[in-house]
Amino acid sequence: MSLLNFIFPRVCHLCGATLSPQEKGCVCTPCLSLLPRTLYHRQAGNPMEMRFAGLFPFERATGHFFYSSGSEVSQLIQDLKYRHFRNLARFMGETVGRELLSTGFFSDIDAIVPIPMHFLKKARRGYNQTEEIAAGLSKAVGIPIDLSLRARRSHTSQTTLSTQERKKNLCDIFTLRPNHTLNMKHLLLLDDVCTTGATLAEAAETIHLQSNGIKLSMLTLGVTF
Ligand SMILES: [Zn+2]
Repeated sequence: MSLLNFIFPRVCHLCGATLSPQEKGCVCTPCLSLLPRTLYHRQAGNPMEMRFAGLFPFERATGHFFYSSGSEVSQLIQDLKYRHFRNLARFMGETVGRELLSTGFFSDIDAIVPIPMHFLKKARRGYNQTEEIAAGLSKAVGIPIDLSLRARRSHTSQTTLSTQERKKNLCDIFTLRPNHTLNMKHLLLLDDVCTTGATLAEAAETIHLQSNGIKLSMLTLGVTF
């Protein structure tokens, strides 16, 4: 045990148990194994894919964990998003990457495209949690990150808005950088949580309109029932 670990033992983000040297991340093995997996990657036409059916062309979509308010998955996502647990975001991205690596979900994918955050909001928060999740995912699966998609303005939190208000809130929010590098690639659009799917759909629409010959798939850490 290193001196630093002796003085400040690493503990599980969920249960507070001391992590063993084999447990490299932020959550202990028992807590991690209890998080509810959707296994949507095994199911063509799964409930997340159905949210995008008919809206735009895509290859496949999955949300890795079930997300419900008050659950441990929601605690993890709230903490990595709003409470500066940047390493937790990377750890969760890496975990999802490792668990899906041998399933074929990433086959043929050329780049990971995280949902961007407006630069003022990113400056206030200090980081974009989805870029951190992407960093962990990229490390686990060996697929590069592409930051060609950007947010033109900040959008307010979607959770309290009606469907109509959500659409208006997101309209024209995204754009591609001039000289973007997305053409002719299979892109994995990545976000922290999928609720209605409106954010991913708006980003997908922008990418389809402003690039050529691309294929799209979607991945999120959490997905609502
Ligand atoms: Zn634990």
